[in-house]
Amino acid sequence: MPGVAELMRWRGLASVLWLAALLAFESARPAKPLFASVRVRFAHGFRNIALGSSNAILTALLFATAWKATADWSSINAFGLAHRVENMPGVGTAAALLLFDAWTYGWHRLNHRIPLLWRFHRMHHSDSEMDATTANRFHPGEIVLSSLLRLPLIALLGLEFLELLAYETVLLAVVQWHHSNLMLPPSIDRLFRVLVVTPAMHKVHHSRMAIETNSDYSALLSVWDRLFRSFRLRDDPRAIRFGLEGFDAPSRQSLAGLLITPFKD
Ligand SMILES: [Zn+2]
Ligand SMILES: [Zn+2]
Repeated sequence: MPGVAELMRWRGLASVLWLAALLAFESARPAKPLFASVRVRFAHGFRNIALGSSNAILTALLFATAWKATADWSSINAFGLAHRVENMPGVGTAAALLLFDAWTYGWHRLNHRIPLLWRFHRMHHSDSEMDATTANRFHPGEIVLSSLLRLPLIALLGLEFLELLAYETVLLAVVQWHHSNLMLPPSIDRLFRVLVVTPAMHKVHHSRMAIETNSDYSALLSVWDRLFRSFRLRDDPRAIRFGLEGFDAPSRQSLAGLLITPFKD
């Protein structure tokens, strides 16, 4: 079996190729005009991708091996949920993956609810020109916290490292897509969002209006927002103004300004 580093590299390559495809589609059929010039678009993309790349390196160096060791420990000791229902092949793993996605929803909701977590998460929301690259724009502090919390979760759910990586790869592909400056015809978006979070859903989450920001927390499966009553849509998703009041100044949008977002009032 390929090692942790090789698997992480393949995952990175897949997400780069998918991002390139989305950026090409955004150039051809943008949902709405976003950038004043190609130069502005390039600078915006560079900042978001720089953050995403450093987070990916941080995760690969600090957490990937720990995730695998935890998954292996849980497997050897038959500790986690998936290992407890081994007489039903696939059922335990499917339940564990479902619960992992529910955790992703819950963690995102906590990031909006707890002031300290919001200080980090708001950097993701302060992007007034949301496109596919925004999917990579998370504060390293948020990444470190969520990566740490994954350790007990991996053990409890009994996810294998490969299963976790497969989930992460699909998750990132969907997350890049629903952040993109693309829109599906309404009837097709409706069809997709029966199962997954679509651009029409996640655009509402990036609205400047608090009531809309505090809705549509799901990342992969849309069921959690329906189940926990945070599902919200807009009739005119193209008219949504993205970003966060008070965070538009160029000094707040530079790479350094973004990194100090949690520490500013
Ligand atoms: Zn959010
Ligand atoms: Zn987002």
